[in-house]
Amino acid sequence: MKSRITKNKYDAVIIGGGVSGLVCGCYLARAGLQVILIEKNVNAGGYSGSFQKKGFVFDACAHALGSLREGGFIEQILKDLEIKDRLKMKRYDPSDIVISKDFKLHFWSDLDKTIQEFSAVFPKEAVNINRFFKDIIDLKNVSLAQLKSKSFKDFLGSYFSDVRLIAALSLPVLGNASLAASKISAYTAVALYKEFILDGGYYPGTKMQDFVDILAKRFKEFGGDILPSTLVERISIKDGKVEGVYINKDDFIESRYVISNVDARQTFLELINGKIDLNLSDTLNNLSPSLSIFILYLGTNGQVDSIPPGVNVWFLPHYNVENMYEVADKKTVDQSEWFMVRLAPNKKSITMLVTSAFENPEYWKENKKKLINLFIKKIEQVIPELSQNIIFKDAATPNTLYKWTLNYRGAAYGWAGTPSQFAIPGLSQSTPIKNLYLTGHWTTLVQGIPGVVYLGRDTAKIILNREKVKK
Ligand SMILES: Cc1cc2nc3c(=O)[nH]c(=O)nc-3n(C[C@H](O)[C@H](O)[C@H](O)COP(=O)(O)OP(=O)(O)OC[C@H]3O[C@@H](n4cnc5c(N)ncnc54)[C@H](O)[C@@H]3O)c2cc1C
Repeated sequence: MKSRITKNKYDAVIIGGGVSGLVCGCYLARAGLQVILIEKNVNAGGYSGSFQKKGFVFDACAHALGSLREGGFIEQILKDLEIKDRLKMKRYDPSDIVISKDFKLHFWSDLDKTIQEFSAVFPKEAVNINRFFKDIIDLKNVSLAQLKSKSFKDFLGSYFSDVRLIAALSLPVLGNASLAASKISAYTAVALYKEFILDGGYYPGTKMQDFVDILAKRFKEFGGDILPSTLVERISIKDGKVEGVYINKDDFIESRYVISNVDARQTFLELINGKIDLNLSDTLNNLSPSLSIFILYLGTNGQVDSIPPGVNVWFLPHYNVENMYEVADKKTVDQSEWFMVRLAPNKKSITMLVTSAFENPEYWKENKKKLINLFIKKIEQVIPELSQNIIFKDAATPNTLYKWTLNYRGAAYGWAGTPSQFAIPGLSQSTPIKNLYLTGHWTTLVQGIPGVVYLGRDTAKIILNREKVKK
């Protein structure tokens, strides 16, 4: 990504080139604001980017898109920004498979087919299965206020009694939100099902980075500037209002608005150097981030065919998903028995994800190699031919995720989506500092790319409304 910076005075500076910052930038630049997006890495994308190593292309973290049905968040925004046709989007069907010793459950694009399959495996729960999936999709029979205060475990318990079924529905939530069903708010888990699992399996072109690159290109077409490989070091504030950012020690970029797409702790506790009221500072220190993820990247000779490409395969070793979360939370990733494994659409790259606590960097240095080999063995329960076909192996630890994006403790999904962390005072698109805005997964409780894309547009809308009022 080449630098296009031509000046040092803008209407808006966006800190961080995650998907949320890029979407926000597109809307602001389209409206005629002079916008610059500053990203510390060579390429924009953050957790939604891809990389190449030894000839293999890997999606670094995010590996699929959701919410692309007619009227879905991402579909709306792609249409609105007139880039939907530029993406060679393919939907993989099923999007997800849960495998246990007793069953194999597919999440198909056709919801009725999914309901039929689940009902055939759990005939005594058939009526409840139908009710559950339909309620999630149309949200008519559920109170959103109640969903916010309830856990997903309680929500599942209000439909089902079969612990195997409850576990099968809880595992994708653990992987996609880094939380146990007893800890995550039902609202967040239901949104995850509706926007990502039941409307999921979409893949843009050849890699996730294609989606990011098209957003970045559109931003530039609207007149936006991107400054890559540059860390924002400080947000300058005068009389309670932002006036710009500092980069490269003393270089100042003046700006009427600053939008932070980075970790809210970094924004308030480091970039503005404590110039916030003590209540917000206490709040930030007391909030819990989501757990991180240990990721395995395997390059193969293309001979792996035990799992279909483009599909998330969830291995459910037993039916105590609560315990699987506890294992991760207790910093014992080596004892994890579950995993999500995925053969990329290119049929050569494999990624495996498992929820993990942060740990200290020394732990990962000492154990990374051992963990890579340990998890390869575990994956062979699903892909027996794996070892003999591997050409390249590497892993990203929670510390890698932190170093790469500066997300606090390598948190995979921003703040943990617990009921008590809903609507956190001071943390929303607008902040207590005048003209400082937030976007991205540390803003408020949103999940995954559909959530941060929605926020990107919403933050831009708030700013553009202010601009209108001023005129
Ligand atoms: C392992 C994993 C798998 C996932 N899988 C999926 C999936 O399949 N589908 C899905 O929808 N979601 C998935 N997610 C979640 C999804 O990736 C995130 O919700 C989304 O990418 C977050 O986007 P963001 O814009 O909020 O921020 P981020 O992606 O965190 O981007 C922030 C950017 O800011 C930059 N930055 C930080 N500090 C500074 C600074 N001081 N100056 C300049 N730049 C800075 C970083 O380098 C980064 O590029 C996954 C997440 C993880 C970790």
